[in-house]
Amino acid sequence: MSEKHVKTLIVGGGISGLCAALALGPDSMILEKEPEPGGYCRSIRQDGFLWDFAGHFFHFRTDMGRQFFLSQFKPGELADVQKRCQILYRGRRIDYPFQTHIHQLEKAELIDCLYDLFHRRPKNHYDSFLELLAGSYGHAVTEKFLRPYNEKLYACDLSTLDPAAMGRFFPAADLQDIIDNMKGSCDRSYNSRFFYPKGGAGALIEALCRRLYPDTLLTGRELVAVDAEHKLACDNQGDYYRYEILINSSPLHRFLRMLDKPALTEMAKRLRCNQVLVLNLGFERKAPDRELHWLYVPGAEADAYRVGFYDNVLNTDRASLYVEISFPEGAQIDKEKELDLTLRALRRQGLIQEDNALLSHCALLMDPAYVQLRHDTGKTVGEIREALAGMDIFSIGRYGGWRYCSMEDCMLEAFSLAENLKGRYT
Ligand SMILES: Cc1cc2nc3c(=O)[nH]c(=O)nc-3n(C[C@H](O)[C@H](O)[C@H](O)COP(=O)(O)OP(=O)(O)OC[C@H]3O[C@@H](n4cnc5c(N)ncnc54)[C@H](O)[C@@H]3O)c2cc1C
Repeated sequence: MSEKHVKTLIVGGGISGLCAALALGPDSMILEKEPEPGGYCRSIRQDGFLWDFAGHFFHFRTDMGRQFFLSQFKPGELADVQKRCQILYRGRRIDYPFQTHIHQLEKAELIDCLYDLFHRRPKNHYDSFLELLAGSYGHAVTEKFLRPYNEKLYACDLSTLDPAAMGRFFPAADLQDIIDNMKGSCDRSYNSRFFYPKGGAGALIEALCRRLYPDTLLTGRELVAVDAEHKLACDNQGDYYRYEILINSSPLHRFLRMLDKPALTEMAKRLRCNQVLVLNLGFERKAPDRELHWLYVPGAEADAYRVGFYDNVLNTDRASLYVEISFPEGAQIDKEKELDLTLRALRRQGLIQEDNALLSHCALLMDPAYVQLRHDTGKTVGEIREALAGMDIFSIGRYGGWRYCSMEDCMLEAFSLAENLKGRYT
């Protein structure tokens, strides 16, 4: 048992925690519970295949994020990719997003969609995500794709989600976009072009770790308790850390329980999420479709809601897939059964040929995966973060901040917090 003094203790060595440590410099220390850093931005090498924790592609909304990312790589280390993705809809393929490709549907379905689109009733205020979908795109588009797909992804009833549940990541389109797309494809989505490191998403983590000050990162160290009054944190090996500031990037609902404060423990119960099982699959040879980057599966053809092809992103010569299957929080998951069902579905849908042998696989559980922003979640998280800030605890990142965000958002939030803290505490 030891006690260390550290100015800023960072919980979690994912992209948020690493970026905060880089920006803060030698006065910070990261506790990471896993044997290696990276969180959901890790990559796995197995039997000659390279996989992530579900497809992790880099898209940017700011120059700062893009430049920071690019500066971590040498020329030739990145693939610059124009996205190609489709939807498996009633046994056939249509381009994504559904709402701007309804002209690819059968004539009768197109008429239904157009009729409802022109007769939809947009509102200034919606009560739920489901209402937003129907108000924006009409009943037919909502019921044919938006509702089944998003209910599969979130593993919950969309009428329980806030209209802002997906924020800027929802592929919004107005009537003009839909008409323009009928004339010729134009993809305005946030990730229409993305970067992907040839060494997998985890190559970014390796680059960030090379720039950390020595001894900043402690792996295999799980935070288990925090005494916020005395600014003392304890890890799973019984070691103590006396800190001035604590930055948390671990899942907020679990972190709150470590503070031993009944009001915060109670609020943690209001934070809901799903879990996603990721099956990474490596096959003997290429699949028939050599163009597709990923496929959305809204229907019951497969348990998966999305299937992606790393080999088509990186132009490698054997099919290398990720399959994402969503489950409600706390559900028991039989990984072997899901693997068996998935392989059957992939072959049945012709995505993988019957005689294309599975050479290697691994199953990973992302828990939490998608936070479910319900009607009062924004308010609850705001109150929690304010209470934590009063104790010099700042909770950031996708799960620390409990929001739907990208890796770029995590980096930028970490940099911005570090700047504020430097101004405040130096
Ligand atoms: C299915 C899926 C696909 C995605 N695809 C993309 C994509 O293509 N592009 C994109 O930009 N974003 C994508 N994201 C989002 C992206 O994964 C996150 O925004 C980002 O990785 C979050 O980083 P983070 O550091 O905030 O959290 P995390 O990566 O979750 O890191 C938190 C770290 O805290 C550690 N930890 C947890 N508890 C403790 C504890 N008690 N003590 C110490 N350490 C602890 C964990 O081990 C982990 O390393 C996707 C997310 C999901 C779920």
